[in-house]
Amino acid sequence: MKKKLIVMLGIMLTITIGTTLVTAATRKKEERNENLTVVTSFYPMYILAKNLTEGTNTDVVNLTEYKTGCLHDYQLTTVDMKRLENADIFIMNGGGMENFIEDILGSYPDMPIINASKGIEFLTGEGHSHEEGNTNHQKGEPANHKNEEYNAHVWLNMNYYMKEIQNVQDGLIKLNPENARIYEANAKEYSNKIETLKNDLEATMDNVKEKKVVIFHDSFAYLAQELGLEVIHTVNLDGETALSAGDIREVIDEVKEKQVKVLFTEKQYSTSIAENIASESGAKVYVIDSLVTGDMDKDSYINGMKMNLEVLKQALLKE
Ligand SMILES: [Zn+2]
Repeated sequence: MKKKLIVMLGIMLTITIGTTLVTAATRKKEERNENLTVVTSFYPMYILAKNLTEGTNTDVVNLTEYKTGCLHDYQLTTVDMKRLENADIFIMNGGGMENFIEDILGSYPDMPIINASKGIEFLTGEGHSHEEGNTNHQKGEPANHKNEEYNAHVWLNMNYYMKEIQNVQDGLIKLNPENARIYEANAKEYSNKIETLKNDLEATMDNVKEKKVVIFHDSFAYLAQELGLEVIHTVNLDGETALSAGDIREVIDEVKEKQVKVLFTEKQYSTSIAENIASESGAKVYVIDSLVTGDMDKDSYINGMKMNLEVLKQALLKE
């Protein structure tokens, strides 16, 4: 009896010590923070980083809330700023999308930054005030966001998105060479998927008869660019100022005059202005996704683009 009790006590003691050791080990790991922490500026960068860092010990954290969407005129909150505390790498889209980058550099001057759009030739934004005579356009240079002269939504042209994948891959390898092979393999796999999608899209668009479109977010200018569509007008719902009745009237007149049949409006914004224009002009509203929000699934760019392809077919292919 006594012997049994001693054995049982011994077992209990072993379990207790074992548990304590595990807890200590876990705590130590947490203190060392062995995982690489990659902070991304907004949803498209989050999805890109998720794909490229898969299979490595990396925590990908999005700086802004997932529902934020495009970052036009976005001001960082104290909660956002706190997410940068443990960041090893910050990944941004560039082109003026992150107009708070100066704030980040002010607080974290040594933060390693990967600019995904490096080397991409931006379209210039529409509906923004341009400074006369400012011809200082340089490839891949972040915009002077006061003028917001660049259209930063490059991820919607899949050729450019693949360039962004390449840039992020190169940046990750440079900053964390021990995972180089994994980053390369991930980037290759992801790029191949995008390439397939791009080929699908471009093959479909070979049959397009209807080329004139009005867009309600200048992000679609990149999709139009890839598909060879003619953007008749960009109604900028991103801007700070609301559209006046006169502005809307102008668009209606233009749509009628140029016989535009297709209005591409944006999933992340209200469609009421587009519907108003449609009802007065006979054009039809189609909702496209700029892929700036989603369910955080790493395939959400691909899935969103596939849905866009279906909408594009409906809108642009005539029987
Ligand atoms: Zn936008």
